[in-house]
Amino acid sequence: MSHIYNRVALIGLGLIASSMAHAMRRGNLAGQIVGHSRSIDTQKKAISLEIFDEVFGSAKEAVENADLVVLCVPVGAMGSVAKDISAYMKAGSTLTDVGSTKRAVIDSVSPHVREDVFFVPAHPVAGTEQSGPDAGFAELFDNRWCLMTPGKVEDHNLNRIEKLKLLWTSIGANVELMDPDHHDLVLAVTSHAPHLIAYTMVGVADDLRRVTDSEVVKYSAAGFRDFTRIAASDPTMWRDVFLSNKDATLEILGRFTEELFALQRAIRTGDGDYLHEYFTRTRELRRGVVEAGQDTDAPDFGRFKGR
Ligand code: NAP
Repeated sequence: MSHIYNRVALIGLGLIASSMAHAMRRGNLAGQIVGHSRSIDTQKKAISLEIFDEVFGSAKEAVENADLVVLCVPVGAMGSVAKDISAYMKAGSTLTDVGSTKRAVIDSVSPHVREDVFFVPAHPVAGTEQSGPDAGFAELFDNRWCLMTPGKVEDHNLNRIEKLKLLWTSIGANVELMDPDHHDLVLAVTSHAPHLIAYTMVGVADDLRRVTDSEVVKYSAAGFRDFTRIAASDPTMWRDVFLSNKDATLEILGRFTEELFALQRAIRTGDGDYLHEYFTRTRELRRGVVEAGQDTDAPDFGRFKGR
């Protein structure tokens, strides 16, 4: 395939940026891929991967002459990075991001977007609990969703949106356009609240560990092990996610608390029918996720596939 963009600049070289670079190399999607990260250590790691044509210590240098600039820093840093690079971006270029929340990113980045630069916010819904450039891999986005929240699609911006869409589909993702507030609510249900619950459960176990003398770690069972994997996710990234998607996360946690109380009551009163009906419903939802191909690594993938 011929290159979709001549020069792509990735700002913030962690899991997502390096996975994008790997996938763009795999598909030969960009003429040049350059990057910027603030720490020398991350710059050195990124250089050693041999997927970047150049790695810069300054974001301004990285964005010069880039046709596409992708902000891959934590959500809370997007606005200040956008401000720093604004004057150095190429006229006619496209700016995008990969932030896990969209309304806060749009509000913090938009004031720094020049009139001759086009901003298309996006969120690839794919990740692992690892961070840093050496955690990245080309297949991360294969068959995952990339949700783009460009606002109103009009004749003058259609081409830019289509080009970015083509990049993401060529990287391996399925693309859908979405309203930013709707995105934040959906992700609060599917990602943000579950992460907070995992953090809480592991926090509870950590408190208990002091009482049970490491038994929590030693006899760790499947459910808890899954929570610990999620709760190992990057603290800076997730701090920023919760602070920037406050309303939707709190709304979902409110509903979660109501459901938890109902289950608590069923256990206390011995209402087995309620519990059984509830767990049957949740099992159906799990089947839907696996059938949609959204957990191909799952041991039960084969069990539900094709049903
Ligand atoms: P990561 O592996 O922790 O990497 C973050 C990168 O941002 C690092 O290169 C870091 O640079 C740089 N950085 C941090 N603070 C910065 C600042 N104030 N100014 C400039 N650079 C800064 O993170 P990631 O998992 O790739 O996540 C990046 C973005 O993708 C976040 O917005 C996140 O919400 C979004 N996202 C993450 C996932 C996921 O599951 N991980 C999934 C989808 C979207 P140094 O190392 O040089 O300090």
